[in-house]
Amino acid sequence: MRDLLTGLLEPTPVLDHGFVRLVDAMPRLAEEGETADHAIVRAARVSYQTGTKASRTDRGLIRYLMRNFHTSPFEMVEFKFHTKMPIFVARQWVRHRTASINEVSARYSVLPEEFYIPEPEAVGAQATSNRQGRSEGLLDLATIEETRTVLRDQATGAFASYQGLLDKEVARELSRAVLPVNAYTEWYWKANLLNVFRFLQLRLDHHAQYEIRVYAEAMATIIKQVAPWSFEAFEDYWMNGARLSSHEWAAVLAELSTEQRDSVLTRLEDTLSAGELRELQQKLGR
Ligand SMILES: Cc1cc2nc3c(=O)[nH]c(=O)nc-3n(C[C@H](O)[C@H](O)[C@H](O)COP(=O)(O)OP(=O)(O)OC[C@H]3O[C@@H](n4cnc5c(N)ncnc54)[C@H](O)[C@@H]3O)c2cc1C
Repeated sequence: MRDLLTGLLEPTPVLDHGFVRLVDAMPRLAEEGETADHAIVRAARVSYQTGTKASRTDRGLIRYLMRNFHTSPFEMVEFKFHTKMPIFVARQWVRHRTASINEVSARYSVLPEEFYIPEPEAVGAQATSNRQGRSEGLLDLATIEETRTVLRDQATGAFASYQGLLDKEVARELSRAVLPVNAYTEWYWKANLLNVFRFLQLRLDHHAQYEIRVYAEAMATIIKQVAPWSFEAFEDYWMNGARLSSHEWAAVLAELSTEQRDSVLTRLEDTLSAGELRELQQKLGR
């Protein structure tokens, strides 16, 4: 047996004071040559009994499950992370309801004076194409530096007020109300692989805010080492694949002649599995 988490338990620094640290995973131990993917394969083969053994390799089975949204076997693998992030990142993160969380209590603990100041290249103007994002390269250097100074001064002042209230023996649960959302919090976060993938799909995407995306990227780097086939399938089918509406797909098909459809199939002959090719054949109406 080998420990799948060897070399993966060191914290990965994220932003200026944050980190992502893998605490544990299930399964943690695996036979030589196996990964957490095999826990998924075993669970899937229980539901399919011997039917899939003959027809699919283990990697092929994982890709089939991911492609067709047979998701319950992915729930057999779990990850527990300890992460530290600005409160405004935690607010977005906590919207992913299918995880178990234990957060530091600012009713019991005094929060350290740690707050997030973006690097200059992360300070952007309000996006015009996407109303909730930020643009690159539209702000002059003076505005970027002023933004960072305002954030720093505001947070330093807030922490001074916090300390002032604590010094007067005001309850911690009330004193914390002066703290800004760029102050850091931390928590333990445990979720199964299916829900981790759901989190990653939304938070690795370029629409996600940069400050949560960097946490998703740090987690993804760890997860792909523990469950490499599942991660590969997640990237291929969920993350980097495209889903078209019926109108969009009908318009694409209308533009493709019979020869062009056959040419698509030929082009992918060496890339796709036999099952995938059959599915594509059906989609293309061939
Ligand atoms: C780019 C971006 C912008 C966003 N902007 C906003 C915003 O402006 N305002 C805002 O409020 N939120 C916003 N969100 C949050 C978003 O609406 C979701 O709440 C968040 O992404 C969590 O997604 P989820 O519900 O799929 O995840 P989870 O809570 O992890 O749920 C995973 C899946 O489990 C199932 N599930 C979980 N709980 C339930 C339930 N109670 N009932 C039924 N099914 C359930 C669903 O299938 C769900 O997809 C934004 C998210 C992103 C990524």
